[in-house]
Amino acid sequence: MVSEVPTQALKWLARQSSTGGNFPFIQKDSTCFPSGEPLNKNTRDILISLLALAVIASGIRYAIMRERLSRADLHAWYQQENETEFAGSLQDASVEWGDLRQDDAEGITYKYDDDSFAIVLDRSTNTSESEARDTLRHEACHVATWGEEPKHGPKWQACMSRRID
Ligand SMILES: [Zn+2]
Repeated sequence: MVSEVPTQALKWLARQSSTGGNFPFIQKDSTCFPSGEPLNKNTRDILISLLALAVIASGIRYAIMRERLSRADLHAWYQQENETEFAGSLQDASVEWGDLRQDDAEGITYKYDDDSFAIVLDRSTNTSESEARDTLRHEACHVATWGEEPKHGPKWQACMSRRID
């Protein structure tokens, strides 16, 4: 996700470098610009520094995105989903982040003894808003079809396919 542009840039740098660069995974070819001028070392160093800055900047952007996601109002997303896809008929549920690595799940829905629902989204596998919203949709359909066995049976599948439009 983050690596596409830097990889292209690295290949380009390796191609321009007078030695072919220290990139053993890249096949070495021409050492010159089309004009015949070899790329001077300072220019190359500046380009490498700019590339490093670009990598750092994209890392920071990713960290900010993750931080914003961790603070998102998941319950508001659930209510939105309820309004737009279920005409408000879905039972309310609490929604929060959790660690579901042991369950090997991106999301889990629980129903408590008092008939209230709770949805937990795994914070390590839902790394973007669209992934988190997809998982929330999946879990909302479990709330809507609670009691169906198997859990991903025809009712649940119908619920999921209704919203692909
Ligand atoms: Zn499921």
